[in-house]
Amino acid sequence: MSFFLPIQPPCPSCDTESPMELVLSVNADRRPQLRLGMLDGTFQRQTCPACGATFRPEPEFIYQDVGRGQWIAVEPVDNLAQWQTLEDKAYATWDRAFGDRAGGPAREIGEALTPRVTFGWPAVVEKLLCAEHGIDDIHLELMKMSIIRMGGSVPMDDTTELRLARVEGDTLVLGWIEAKAETPVSIIEIPQSGLEGYNTEAWAPLRAQVSAGLYVDMNRLLAGA
Ligand SMILES: [Zn+2]
Repeated sequence: MSFFLPIQPPCPSCDTESPMELVLSVNADRRPQLRLGMLDGTFQRQTCPACGATFRPEPEFIYQDVGRGQWIAVEPVDNLAQWQTLEDKAYATWDRAFGDRAGGPAREIGEALTPRVTFGWPAVVEKLLCAEHGIDDIHLELMKMSIIRMGGSVPMDDTTELRLARVEGDTLVLGWIEAKAETPVSIIEIPQSGLEGYNTEAWAPLRAQVSAGLYVDMNRLLAGA
């Protein structure tokens, strides 16, 4: 099932309240258009009836797509500082729904699902793009770390993150994206072959660290450093 809650969020530009249905859970198998809306950025986006500004609340829902093997606890980017606590909470939710504490049939479905937790819209879209294009999200995080290590201009701060924004043919388009505004600050294009080489022995320690929990994101290493 997909669940929604009626709310009246105020427009961030003019404070006018307008009704919308806030999503609490997304079942992409039954509602594929919700997944497409997440990918094109229209999902949960409101247009203010008074001033025409568009906005959307930060995401906070469970995303499930058995067909593509995805289960994601989606958190607002404001909760990033509590990622360790929320990772534990997501694991407990996962465990009851599809893991060891779930009933037999659900556990069987769970074996084909990869559980994750993400923070903010750009991060969950990135996970959807990985499933869509057969990209290993662990290798993607290691590639991002390589990009940062190579130096150059790094506009990273608390909410500006390096995210896979789209895939164009053989090209991965990554953006430094301000997570709340969802606006790219700058764009980096890399051929898909840039994802190769991260399954070697040399990368094993970092591979283990970045995938040590449901929060598969290079931020877990940076936050712990
Ligand atoms: Zn407005």
